[in-house]
Amino acid sequence: RIIDAAPSSPNEEAIERALRPKVLDEYIGQEKIRGQLEIFISAARGRGEALDHTLLFGPPGLGKTTLANIIAREMGVNLRQTSGPVLERPGDLAALLTNLEANDVLFIDEIHRLSPVVEEILYPALEDYQIDIMIGEGPAARSVKLDLQPFTLVGATTRAGMLTNPLRDRFGIVARLEFYTTEELAKIVTRSAALLKAHIDDSGALEIARRARGTPRIANRLLRRVRDYAEVKSNGDITKETADAALVMLDVDTVGFDVMDRKLLEAVLYKFNGGPVGIGNLAAAIGEAADTIEDVLEPYLIQQGYLQRTPRGRVATPAAYQHFGLTPPRTSLT
Ligand code: ADP
Repeated sequence: RIIDAAPSSPNEEAIERALRPKVLDEYIGQEKIRGQLEIFISAARGRGEALDHTLLFGPPGLGKTTLANIIAREMGVNLRQTSGPVLERPGDLAALLTNLEANDVLFIDEIHRLSPVVEEILYPALEDYQIDIMIGEGPAARSVKLDLQPFTLVGATTRAGMLTNPLRDRFGIVARLEFYTTEELAKIVTRSAALLKAHIDDSGALEIARRARGTPRIANRLLRRVRDYAEVKSNGDITKETADAALVMLDVDTVGFDVMDRKLLEAVLYKFNGGPVGIGNLAAAIGEAADTIEDVLEPYLIQQGYLQRTPRGRVATPAAYQHFGLTPPRTSLT
């Protein structure tokens, strides 16, 4: 699948790591965030302090993990990485926190999936660089306060709305990542092609960029598949023509929708008469988890104006009707 949320294999993870920009200057797009981080990082460095806790949110594949790594590198500190679901017990987090060196970055991916008991010990850590841990069990159990080194928590989440208020309030820097423009993605594709030693011209990079759902992870993924195609079917050069032929083979249509996007839109249009349809019904109709629809599929469809979220459910827009060669109903959208 083209639009899976995460790297789909260890091999792909290794490739992603290799393509990751290492410093802020190599990070393409997201101008606003980059500008802010540049200032905050250099101020914190100048004072010899840890950077403020930073929350990064936005759909998968937009560069949150990459930014966390860049922050650590620009601060000149270590990065420790974990994720919400991995931290099952308070002790798991305590072990990580007590091993941090001064001003280190702790990166927690999927931070909205922290269990409440783990989140509980994070609060004093974030506020006072202290944790309370329980030693022993039963009547002999007692609570011990431990001092931590100052550190920066970088949290990543697909939806800021899923964080508890007390957790969200403890982030001094909150940055929302946006979908990338075609021009930005073309730069990313060109850069990745150079690192992969693939031959690509501007028109080829632009064609992949146009069809990458505004997402660097997808752009890089498509580039690798198009390269395979170009190597086997022609002389290896990636042009607009080879890119287009490869993307047709991959079922990525002219606006970059893949099978799942079309399945979702077709369900709204044909099964639910254009909507409104509730997320639960839509999930059942296309056999996809509601979370996946909300985190991975629909943000781009909404941003591109094919789908609308209304209080009564999802509604197909006139653009969606037109994409499938249908005439939009004359009544206005609900
Ligand atoms: P997320 O953590 O948001 O899911 P990642 O940081 O893992 O996304 O990024 C996915 C891939 O996209 C990485 O391999 C990285 O090379 C690439 N990427 C993301 N953002 C950028 C960017 N701004 N410039 C260049 N490449 C990027």
